[in-house]
Amino acid sequence: MFAQDERYPGSVGPVGRAGNVPTRTGGWALSQPQLDYSRCNRCLLCWIYCPDGSIQRTGADGEERLVIDYLYCKGCGICERECARGAIVMQGRE
Ligand code: SF4
Ligand code: SF4
Repeated sequence: MFAQDERYPGSVGPVGRAGNVPTRTGGWALSQPQLDYSRCNRCLLCWIYCPDGSIQRTGADGEERLVIDYLYCKGCGICERECARGAIVMQGRE
């Protein structure tokens, strides 16, 4: 059902990578999401809505963590808006 990624099998969100050829859109970003793990309840809304599949699920069941891949994150801020826990804050690109 979900798109596959050769580096993170089964972990990329429903939207998957943009286009037929994955494009490293990280260079477009003017800001980047910072994730506060202490506030995250792993609801996966950010993972579902990220338009570039830049949020990956890693780790074993029960210890799963979300990791943002800045090579592909274009800094759109959708994840920040969708996160009801305030666990994601957009900050200037480092
Ligand atoms: S939307 Fe927020 S609370 Fe839900 S998984 Fe993403 S960062 Fe965590
Ligand atoms: S800002 Fe968030 S929703 Fe937008 S591309 Fe980056 S990780 Fe995905």
